[in-house]
Amino acid sequence: MKMSGADFVVVGAGVFGVWTAHLLRRRGHTVALIDAHGAGNPRSSSGDESRVIRMGYGGDTLYTRWAARSLELWQEFFRATGDTLLVKTGVLWLGTDSDLYTQQLHDTLAGERIAHEKLSVPEIAARFPQIGLDRVSFGVFEPDSGVLLARRSVQAVLKDAVGSGVHYLTDAVVPPVSGGSRLEYLRTRSGKEIRGDTFVFACGAWLPQIFPEILGTRIFPTRQEVFYFRPPAGAFQFTSPAMPVWLHHEEEMYALPDIENRGVKIASDRHGEPFDPESGDRTVSKRSLREMRAYLRCRLPELQDSPLLDARVCQYENTSTGDFLIDHHPEIDNAWLVGGGSGHGFKHGPAVGQYLVERILDTTKPEGRFSIERKLQVQQRVVY
Ligand SMILES: Cc1cc2nc3c(=O)[nH]c(=O)nc-3n(C[C@H](O)[C@H](O)[C@H](O)COP(=O)(O)OP(=O)(O)OC[C@H]3O[C@@H](n4cnc5c(N)ncnc54)[C@H](O)[C@@H]3O)c2cc1C
Repeated sequence: MKMSGADFVVVGAGVFGVWTAHLLRRRGHTVALIDAHGAGNPRSSSGDESRVIRMGYGGDTLYTRWAARSLELWQEFFRATGDTLLVKTGVLWLGTDSDLYTQQLHDTLAGERIAHEKLSVPEIAARFPQIGLDRVSFGVFEPDSGVLLARRSVQAVLKDAVGSGVHYLTDAVVPPVSGGSRLEYLRTRSGKEIRGDTFVFACGAWLPQIFPEILGTRIFPTRQEVFYFRPPAGAFQFTSPAMPVWLHHEEEMYALPDIENRGVKIASDRHGEPFDPESGDRTVSKRSLREMRAYLRCRLPELQDSPLLDARVCQYENTSTGDFLIDHHPEIDNAWLVGGGSGHGFKHGPAVGQYLVERILDTTKPEGRFSIERKLQVQQRVVY
């Protein structure tokens, strides 16, 4: 395919961009996909080793259904390509009596007929003795959920897309000049001109830099730190299936078992400081490491003195509520915006791609929660 005149130009090859490009191509369109730093690069939100895929979203049926559909689509994709990038660890929610979110999550999974078990504290202790259960009064276990090997999953979708004819290049798109209701082409930093009929901007935490006027105060990138601790040799209780992913909603903490010997991953879901995805310092702070060790003492006591294997700074690209942004550009008729993954978007890559493609082709109704009008300038998180 020539670089000029693709039906669709997708900017950004994170999980949202690669799935969008892949699904557009499957429908027979010509697609150019471009990423500034390469698909699954370590600056992108999609670029870490692993991302949790869980069905529980409190009482929020929309994201529960999207997660269930995405799980099917990821599995279908991996069956077709032969990649084994989904690890079915199971996901355990740790709840307290005052924790409405986890209680509603249980009822929602039941209502949606998604496999789950409610566990008492003695049942959790018997099944998962490596997890400390202070401040826990019940658990909800999702047996079919688990972990996507994130960077490699993005690269697998890209490989398949390229194999089916998507034209992929690494280069940075320069923000389009504002004014005018149609985009004819985009310019890249290296001086190329990329023409297309329709443009999709899937630029994660960079969206506010590309469209400062409309998104500069509507997407809030935050600094998020993740830690990988090494379990002692032979400590199989920290690998799957002995250890599931666990999440504690009230404490805003989660952990993943040791997968592929990368170490047990643990992180806080609390929003960090504002962060620049391009130039932000990606060194983790000593204070956070101390806090994480203190937390390990309570939840994974056998790991409290374990050596740190790796630590990373990534960014969330939060919207005001945590709802995704999937809408057309308010001024440019042939441009679409997709992002606002808000710390929970990875799993939904296939459903986001599917919805966006159907919106562009006008075969589905808009969902108000994804609209740009609902992206406010003050954060009030409702989606976790
Ligand atoms: C620490 C952490 C933990 C998370 N945990 C989970 C989890 O467990 N489960 C889950 O479902 N989600 C999780 N998320 C959220 C999830 O990772 C994101 O929502 C998702 O990856 C966002 O994907 P994206 O495609 O929108 O953005 P990105 O992956 O950031 O991709 C955007 C791409 O755009 C490119 N780009 C930017 N500007 C330009 C330009 N000018 N020209 C060309 N290309 C450009 C970038 O290089 C980048 O590759 C987590 C996020 C973080 C940070």
